[in-house]
Amino acid sequence: MKITSRTFLYVTTLLLAAPLARATPGFSYFPDPSLPDIAAVTYRPGKAPVISFNPSLCKQAGVLLCEFYRYHEIAHIMLHHNDRDSLSIQDKEREADRWAAKYAPVHCVQAAYRFFTSGGGSTPSHGSSRIRAERMIASVETRKQRN
Ligand SMILES: [Zn+2]
Repeated sequence: MKITSRTFLYVTTLLLAAPLARATPGFSYFPDPSLPDIAAVTYRPGKAPVISFNPSLCKQAGVLLCEFYRYHEIAHIMLHHNDRDSLSIQDKEREADRWAAKYAPVHCVQAAYRFFTSGGGSTPSHGSSRIRAERMIASVETRKQRN
């Protein structure tokens, strides 16, 4: 088998995903080259949610940022956002960023911080890049208090 960068990314993603997937059953990962975003969670009636990721966009973003986005999607599942209609979409995205920043590996949070401070990741529902970067800093402060 020829090892291409795409193969490397895919295998790396699977390796990164495996321990967390075992620790938190109830969802799966699915590569979707047509996905317009790096990652997204999809809910299906009566079935476990699926976190889809776009391998090409993950490659462009880099493994660390892609991993942060994966944690962001896991956050939506762990925080039961699909069932919490009382929260606004902005509240859910803020919570997902904070959860991901708290539980993702520090290098992934740092990659997200660099991405947000360079102007990336701004959307009406997720908030401005500056606000998202501030969420990363707040998480680092939380981590310091835990240690
Ligand atoms: Zn989200």
